[in-house]
Amino acid sequence: MFDTRIRAADHEAKRRAHAAVQGDDGVAANDQDSVKNPLAALDAFLARASFDASDPAALGGILRQMVDARLDRLPLPGSGQTLARWRALAAVAARDLGLVKLFEGHTDALAILAELGAVAVPAGSRWGVWAAEAPDARVLATPLADGELRLAGTKAWCSGAAAVTHALVTAWVGDAPVLAALALDQPSVSIDTHHWHAVGMQATASGDVTFDGTRAVQLGIPHGYVRRPGFWQGGAGIAACWYGAAAGLASMMAEAVAARPDAHRLAHMGAVEVALAGAAAVLHETAAQIDAHPAEDMQSATLRARLVVEAAAAAVVEHAGRALGAAPLCRNERFARAMADLPVFLRQSHAERDLAALAERSLGQRRDHGDPWLL
Ligand SMILES: Cc1cc2nc3c(=O)[nH]c(=O)nc-3n(C[C@H](O)[C@H](O)[C@H](O)COP(=O)(O)OP(=O)(O)OC[C@H]3O[C@@H](n4cnc5c(N)ncnc54)[C@H](O)[C@@H]3O)c2cc1C
Repeated sequence: MFDTRIRAADHEAKRRAHAAVQGDDGVAANDQDSVKNPLAALDAFLARASFDASDPAALGGILRQMVDARLDRLPLPGSGQTLARWRALAAVAARDLGLVKLFEGHTDALAILAELGAVAVPAGSRWGVWAAEAPDARVLATPLADGELRLAGTKAWCSGAAAVTHALVTAWVGDAPVLAALALDQPSVSIDTHHWHAVGMQATASGDVTFDGTRAVQLGIPHGYVRRPGFWQGGAGIAACWYGAAAGLASMMAEAVAARPDAHRLAHMGAVEVALAGAAAVLHETAAQIDAHPAEDMQSATLRARLVVEAAAAAVVEHAGRALGAAPLCRNERFARAMADLPVFLRQSHAERDLAALAERSLGQRRDHGDPWLL
């Protein structure tokens, strides 16, 4: 258990926490080879990595290798290198969407732990962030005198539950939502994947996890998880994953079009180019905005980026399918998997609800600051 070493803490502890998350041997993240040029190290690893992408245990094994190789030490959101962080997420997504679901969750957890002031992340630990609030799956937290929490209840949508060692979980102390950090190697934790019938994103094995008096540590104050700037910064990181997956599909499509260009295939590829160029431009701009204003609320910028990338990724799926036909969907394992995974992963967008939320915020900005659409 790590409980005596993870603490919700003051500013100084937060500073130390940042160092701890960056490297628990006291070496700053930027001194790590893998962080000096994180993308090159990651690309080299991904090019070498060979695994069965349909096997949840194999995905867990690759995540462990990535953690051991310190490829998880990405620049934190808002650190001035947000785009570098997103490029890393996109590179993993282009390789495999199941893998990026685990990798994004783990790296998001490291960012949350740094932001909320936890110290000393155990070496080699691999984390999930399980924050979905499904209707029948609510986790209750009881604070104890020693400052620990006891968790009871079931959490749904726990990606990589059997592959990670620790988790950040949203829970409720009465009406107050809190974020709890816990080690999963407790007898009071049980994992159930028998409701998981996903075809796309199947290997994430995003099951239900039940807690029965599980020891945990509260991070930050009630409501702190969603009210911190990193909440929306992390949400934009998901869009980088979608982008990477779409760009990966587009690259496979481009190879096929280059081998046999015809007017229709070229037109589909042109449409893909347009979609991805727009999405990439918005991601660049959003990353720069986050780096320029790391403590500000980025909800509008993040909603916009997610929705632009979602639309682009959906366009890539449509055009790639129409351009190449059934053959690669049935005979090219990687293409077929990406085409099955991406539409499911995109459903982490809240679709029209997010569009409506963006419009409401846009109306407010228009009222307060005038026309936001002038060039
Ligand atoms: C492949 C994949 C992996 C995911 N991994 C994670 C993860 O690791 N961590 C995490 O926090 N979230 C994860 N999620 C969940 C995701 O973040 C959303 O919470 C989920 O997609 C539901 O969001 P929503 O806004 O569509 O639905 P909601 O607004 O929550 O609900 C929409 C409708 O679906 C119903 N519904 C929602 N969840 C359930 C459920 N479990 N059982 C029955 N009905 C339900 C609701 O009652 C409602 O009618 C994952 C989702 C996917 C698709």
